[in-house]
Amino acid sequence: MAITGIKGFNDILPGEVEKWQYIEATARRVFELYGLSEIRIPILEKTELFSRSIGDATDIVEKEMYSFVDKGENRVTMRPEGTASVMRSYIEHKLYAQDPVARLYYMGPMFRYERPQKGRYRQFHQIGAELTGVTDPTVDAQVLTMLSHFFAELGLDEPSLEINSLGCPECRPVYRESLKNFLLTRMELLCEDCVRRYETNPLRALDCKAAGCKEATKGAPAMLDNLCQGCSDHFEKTKSYLDAVGTKYRINERMVRGLDYYTRTTFEMVTSLLGAQSAVAAGGRYDGLISELGGPQIPGIGFAIGVERVALLLAEKDFARRPDLFIAAMGEVAHGRAFQLMTALQRLGSSVEIDYEGKSLKSQLRRADKFKARYTLIIGEDELSKGTAPLKNMDGGTQEEVALEAEAILKAVKG
Ligand code: ATP
Ligand code: MG
Repeated sequence: MAITGIKGFNDILPGEVEKWQYIEATARRVFELYGLSEIRIPILEKTELFSRSIGDATDIVEKEMYSFVDKGENRVTMRPEGTASVMRSYIEHKLYAQDPVARLYYMGPMFRYERPQKGRYRQFHQIGAELTGVTDPTVDAQVLTMLSHFFAELGLDEPSLEINSLGCPECRPVYRESLKNFLLTRMELLCEDCVRRYETNPLRALDCKAAGCKEATKGAPAMLDNLCQGCSDHFEKTKSYLDAVGTKYRINERMVRGLDYYTRTTFEMVTSLLGAQSAVAAGGRYDGLISELGGPQIPGIGFAIGVERVALLLAEKDFARRPDLFIAAMGEVAHGRAFQLMTALQRLGSSVEIDYEGKSLKSQLRRADKFKARYTLIIGEDELSKGTAPLKNMDGGTQEEVALEAEAILKAVKG
């Protein structure tokens, strides 16, 4: 019996992969406009990195991590997200020594043991960005603007931006207590998970999808109404900078995010088109994370985009690559000439296809059609002796006679 792949781990096949390349190229192009550089981080890290940064009482650390003990008795985890690794690297290599401001992006696979469904897999891919060293809310507005710019470049109307503030170590604990007091009288409505994390992570009840939790949190106090002066100023300024550059957003005071390290500005790009998998990208500020991981007290902010979900939103678009030219050949001699011309044109930078088997003209033209070649050139004995052949533009239907030389053909197909 043939061996199959593992559930939740997908192949990205030709036909689909062109869309991924387009998404990745767009991210690189847009992020580099904002001064970001790529960083490549390993897939495997010490388990402690994630338990300490993401938090022990989060879904990711509690139940989703691919962790194991390796042959050297080390506890290791296949990264469930990128921020912790990027910050580990930033600290380890003292990237802050010259300038605390680092602007980094990464892309690659992440691993979480979740129930696979549309838009949710066990190996999935993120494109992420992290900006460190700036407290000023212009950077919050810039990060959100860059993220919106990326989706606009892809030509997508969805998703849209939602923002919130989760406060800081000064105001969040106070708010947490008042939320806990509020929930105390409604405990019987909360789902099992929310009851369990009432002590460790009570905010999760605010964005829990269970009907009872929605009921229980109706009228609950909101973090936004309980921010300290510093956090409140920061949020107001972030909004005013977003307004100043015309970046659209909506406030969602129930957004909690599933990771402990977030402070102040948090955000999601949401869509109604993917069912329960509504977040296409998410992120926030993490002013305490770098020091928590043993580095200096340096603030940061970042996000991660879920590539599979972006690809689903781009489902309708056609990304198939089209060769410049298909050369159809009749007879052995012409077949050899077609091969030579193809190779010469490829070396000159043009994409060309032939039919390797040199089947009937009809089946060769079917193949040209399948490739959606922009031009076709048909050569047989007559053409070889004349030294010219008809070149057909497959989009316009027009036809011209070209010399059977790579340069002349290149000029005709590339203009
Ligand atoms: P969700 O609420 O959908 O579980 P999350 O809050 O766990 O998302 P983050 O950890 O913030 O997600 O990751 C950022 C983005 O990565 C998400 O918005 C989503 O687009 C994508 N993502 C997260 N988990 C998965 C997964 N298992 N499969 C595919 N994409 C995912
Ligand atoms: Mg999740």
